[in-house]
Amino acid sequence: MLDQDLILTLCRFLHYGPFFLVGGSVRDLLLDGVIRDYDFLLEGDVFALGRELGTVLKGEVSINSDFLTVSIVTGRYNIDIARARKEVYEKPAALPKVSPASWQEDLARRDFTVNAMAMPVRKRDWGPLIDPFGGERDLRQKMIRYLHKGSFRDDPTRILRAIRFKNRLGFTIEEGTLASLRKDWPYLTQVSPARRFHEWKLLCEETRISACLNDIYELGGWPFLFINVSFQRENTEEISAFQDFPNTRKIRLWFIYLLFLLKTQPDKLPALSNYWGISKRDEQELAHTLSVLTLVKTGPGLPERKIYHALRDLPPEGIYFCYYHLRERAGSWQEFYEKVQAAELPLTGKDLIRAGFKEGPEIGRLLITIKEAFFHGKFTTREEGLAYLRHYIERGK
Ligand code: ATP
Repeated sequence: MLDQDLILTLCRFLHYGPFFLVGGSVRDLLLDGVIRDYDFLLEGDVFALGRELGTVLKGEVSINSDFLTVSIVTGRYNIDIARARKEVYEKPAALPKVSPASWQEDLARRDFTVNAMAMPVRKRDWGPLIDPFGGERDLRQKMIRYLHKGSFRDDPTRILRAIRFKNRLGFTIEEGTLASLRKDWPYLTQVSPARRFHEWKLLCEETRISACLNDIYELGGWPFLFINVSFQRENTEEISAFQDFPNTRKIRLWFIYLLFLLKTQPDKLPALSNYWGISKRDEQELAHTLSVLTLVKTGPGLPERKIYHALRDLPPEGIYFCYYHLRERAGSWQEFYEKVQAAELPLTGKDLIRAGFKEGPEIGRLLITIKEAFFHGKFTTREEGLAYLRHYIERGK
């Protein structure tokens, strides 16, 4: 489907130099006639074009001068424009040295044939197709094929891209590409932690994430992405089942799916965190959720309020993850979330001192008593809590 408004706007910029629709946009357009995100390639001043186009489209423009790219986000379009460039990989898995080049050289640095096609932007539409590596044939044959033998060695994240596209599009990985892929996993240990983590987040956006994870395992890549976390098929199956669970809130899926992988092996989190460069804060939240899950799963013997109270300090994803494990006895998510919010102990040590209890270690002991009473539903408000405590002390005298 051609977006005539966008085409009419773009053709005002043809004087900037050879200008193409490219990459995933061409692939998706040929496959199902729909473009989700627009990738463009320009052999010319990409920053000037990006700024001007951003103003015309009233979009938010971000410039990446190291990678010679500009993105424009509007309510209607997500647009990436890249300066035609070549990449030199000085050693395997290192970030490439990028320099301006012709659009033909740019197509040659891409990952797969189906992603290395272009269509010139013209006055009324895009086209005709430029297809130097046989991408259209591979689309017809449903094939993921690399452009050259050293492709995964140059950039091992392409291995994960191949697996994502295979599962998303229902394609097969071509034989030579597959042989190379199986052999080149170890290069993934040489990319930066942040790039490995980023690849995990991208995997988590895939509808068929479980199939991707099974492929990573079956093609020999599991330890190179997840180091010492063991592959457990039940966990990937659970991720798949979780995808059918009503999931209306904006949550970080990477966080939840990682919890599924780690829930039977929480001790593996610190090493993985280090390998992916997960922030300390995220790591703590993951660890905290895993320990609260163990508590809440100890089950029906536990006072309800104790469960809700334990959940209070978790991030929304952590609460949602625990809710998922309690779903059979927990009622609606809305109700559950409200109970978690309401499960705040209405009394603090300061309240006790203000009410005349003597400062010192005794306050700590009283707080433990009061917490237990609160979990067992003996009171709800601060005043009721103080009355309960006075009565408790009287009884003990
Ligand atoms: P998606 O639908 O997941 O966004 P995409 O193909 O559009 O798929 P992007 O990551 O947006 O993927 O990249 C746009 C294009 O840039 C790709 O189609 C491909 O031509 C090229 N590209 C992206 N990443 C790489 C890479 N690691 N190596 C080589 N080329 C790449």
